[in-house]
Amino acid sequence: MSTVDFVRRVIIIGGGPAGMFAAISAAKESGLPPRSILILDANIKLGRKLGVTGDGRCNITNAKMSSEFFHGKNPKFVNSVLGRFSNEDLLGYFNGLGVEFREEEKGRFIPVTDQASTITDNIIEELVRYGVEVRLNTRIASIRKEDGVFIAKANDGLELRSHKVVVATGGLTYPQLGSFPDGYTIAKTFGHEVVDPVPCLVGFETHEKGLFDLQGVQAKARAWIELRDANSKTRSSSPEVTDEVMFTHYGVSGPAVFSLSIFAVRQLKTNSAVLILDFFPGLSVEEVDKKILSIWETNPSRTLGNSLIGILPKKHVQVIMRNVLQLDIDIPVANVSKAVRQGIVKALTHLEIRLKASRSFKEAQVTDGGIDTEKVDPRTMESKLCPGLFFAGEVLDIHGDCGGYNLQFAFSSGRAAGLAAIQGDREKQ
Ligand SMILES: Cc1cc2nc3c(=O)[nH]c(=O)nc-3n(C[C@H](O)[C@H](O)[C@H](O)COP(=O)(O)OP(=O)(O)OC[C@H]3O[C@@H](n4cnc5c(N)ncnc54)[C@H](O)[C@@H]3O)c2cc1C
Repeated sequence: MSTVDFVRRVIIIGGGPAGMFAAISAAKESGLPPRSILILDANIKLGRKLGVTGDGRCNITNAKMSSEFFHGKNPKFVNSVLGRFSNEDLLGYFNGLGVEFREEEKGRFIPVTDQASTITDNIIEELVRYGVEVRLNTRIASIRKEDGVFIAKANDGLELRSHKVVVATGGLTYPQLGSFPDGYTIAKTFGHEVVDPVPCLVGFETHEKGLFDLQGVQAKARAWIELRDANSKTRSSSPEVTDEVMFTHYGVSGPAVFSLSIFAVRQLKTNSAVLILDFFPGLSVEEVDKKILSIWETNPSRTLGNSLIGILPKKHVQVIMRNVLQLDIDIPVANVSKAVRQGIVKALTHLEIRLKASRSFKEAQVTDGGIDTEKVDPRTMESKLCPGLFFAGEVLDIHGDCGGYNLQFAFSSGRAAGLAAIQGDREKQ
């Protein structure tokens, strides 16, 4: 075992957005000499996950920002964190570095370069500017506290000492980019509870094999999830979302499904969950029926399978008619009965898809669960059980909807932790 005896002011475990922003905030505000603040990361480079966010474009934050877009045992935990460093503060910070943003639909902010690397590169430049030391390929397995000093022990036996520690190890998603459960283990050693982590903002495998033929189809739909008991009685329903649904070889994915995943992943362990899709958002069932009838009356000799390809993709309509409703799609629409037409309308406005299981952490965008926020001070992110120990980012039991909420929380909580960790040093300035 080798020990680096120099006791740092702050060691930050994890060089994602939360950890890097904790380091910058601490180094910038404290005026401490270079190398007082150290980031340790298990990865080969900093901010790897940040680099793939928003399909590589980094949806950094959102125009609408409040606790209603966050989840966990106590979503209100975010109020104090966001109150201290808001979406405007975050954009203002990067504007100050010369980064410009574009607001896209649903209030999503993206750098005008359309590159997540714009954000990562600017942050890394800031780390260098403020003398933050970075040690990569260093996975911390445990932390202990002896005589008021924290000792972080790496997998290879290396021990590093510090007065304060920020744990910003992220969640469990995208293990292919390096995700580890060590933050949870460390928190537990100091008496913290961890809410069982499950994948979130994720797709689902479904029971309806007939719909697998829809693979590749993408459609806008009004969607919601119903949780049902053993007698198929609906016990509760999620709120509705209207967004894109993507059909895949295993089931369903896409933004609408991601948004709803929060309501089903945990519940699927004990309930059955059904996704309901309406492919004509904004129209009543009667209006859809009228629309279809009018199309059919204009072209009575058209085959059933080709009769609606002007309003929905061909594959979409044909798979539902053939595989779900078991209809002969080659007959002319003039021969289709009213009852069959109403069955088609129902399948296009109220398609029920039984969810089997969520996809794994490999495909999920965030972790639902993590370190229970009850024993963490939302103003400082400091542990209420161990003074000097701080948590930030996705390692906590907080996760946000799609749309920039998770990065905003990572940056805001990282900043709060970094500033609080050097509080004494700031006061001496
Ligand atoms: C595909 C994808 C797309 C996404 N898109 C968006 C988006 O557009 N907008 C948005 O808001 N959010 C998005 N997210 C979510 C967002 O990326 C995360 O919420 C955010 O990165 C969390 O930041 P973090 O710093 O807490 O953790 P991370 O970014 O996960 O960083 C944690 C760091 O800790 C390191 N680490 C872990 N354990 C150890 C250890 N024991 N020792 C040393 N180092 C360790 C890891 O190597 C990693 O570098 C997306 C996520 C994914 C997977």
